[in-house]
Amino acid sequence: MNLLLKTLKDELTILKDSHLLRNLNRVDSEQSSRITIGGREYISLCSNNYLGLAADIRVKESSIEAIKNYGNSAAASRLVSGNMALHEHLEEITAEFKGTEAALVFNTGYMANAGMLQALANEQDVLFSDALNHASIIDGCRLSGAKVLVYRHRDVEHLRSLLSGAAGAGHRRKIVITDGVFSMEGDIAPLPDIAHAAEEHDAVLIVDDAHATGVLGKNGKGSVDFFGLAQPGLAQQSIIQMGTYSKALGSFGAYIAGPAEVRDYLINKARAFIYTTALPPSVIAASIAAIRILQEDHNILNRLWQNTRLFREGLKGLGFNTLNSETPIIPVLTGDIKKTILFSERLSESGIYAVPVRPPTVPEGVCRIRTTVTAAHAESEIEFCLRVFEKVGKELRVI
Ligand SMILES: *Cc1c(COP(=O)(O)O)cnc(C)c1O
Repeated sequence: MNLLLKTLKDELTILKDSHLLRNLNRVDSEQSSRITIGGREYISLCSNNYLGLAADIRVKESSIEAIKNYGNSAAASRLVSGNMALHEHLEEITAEFKGTEAALVFNTGYMANAGMLQALANEQDVLFSDALNHASIIDGCRLSGAKVLVYRHRDVEHLRSLLSGAAGAGHRRKIVITDGVFSMEGDIAPLPDIAHAAEEHDAVLIVDDAHATGVLGKNGKGSVDFFGLAQPGLAQQSIIQMGTYSKALGSFGAYIAGPAEVRDYLINKARAFIYTTALPPSVIAASIAAIRILQEDHNILNRLWQNTRLFREGLKGLGFNTLNSETPIIPVLTGDIKKTILFSERLSESGIYAVPVRPPTVPEGVCRIRTTVTAAHAESEIEFCLRVFEKVGKELRVI
């Protein structure tokens, strides 16, 4: 034990000296456009609460009602006695929402990706993965044991050449996997071209819509709908959509939507589905309520996009580099690690909470403040943020 603790301490010291030590900040309020940390109120500018539903009264009340009717816990995995009516109801309305034959709920997005890839692929298969895909996809690829070919970020030509290169190698399954919206860049995968490339090579396409669910497409149906790939036919059979209830939907958990065979297979083979306690009734009820709100309340998406445009155009107008952001995820490039930390500290002093993003999350040299706006932010809050970014940006010579 002493040796373990000594080596841990040494590694932590190295992280600290390189300004890469991660710390937990404690939030004492609910998650809304403003949060309280250490007794002070901040504008929250880095949550994934895109629609402000994390503290929505309708969602809260659905959870409370579910606890009253169904208790606190599912008390077992889905395959034992934890498969409650609420779980199946959520899967039905998720499939309906996504326009797919079926959907299966996983406890987290991380587990959905890890479990799905572990189940669908093994050493006989090949996976084609965007270089900036989420860590849960990277870990799922590793877990599967399949051959993994990484294509340059959003580079369909590169993907095509890797697909061609792998043709005739005798792989059992070919799977292309990409984030729909990239979590640190805020850009969108060129899905129509990716879907065509996959189709031509008889590969299945998996889209991770963690940041597109509730954000892109009609009523927030996601990136496949956004690109009009959702009609029955071409894409319908060869696209599997993963998404989460934990970001725009303000709840928790994840889904995989697609053909019924995929659902049946994952129930049998995905270890991250089989060997874990089902999500509790309160969480499932919150997800159901959030999907209903999306289908009925059109203003909420309009507000999200109005705020997104206001903040992104404002930042660009001030001269900030926001990469190719096209979504409510708006990275503000700040350069090296120290300057990025300093930038975040200055924001914090002015009452804005937005954390620095450093290696290993992003490569060195392209550190950034990852900002996100939500439907819950008031226009005056966004304008305040722009004024602070201008002041700090000039002071630190980022603009
Ligand atoms: C957040 C995220 C996940 C993980 O979802 P959780 O429900 O938070 O585990 C997976 N993929 C992407 C792209 C994400 O941003």
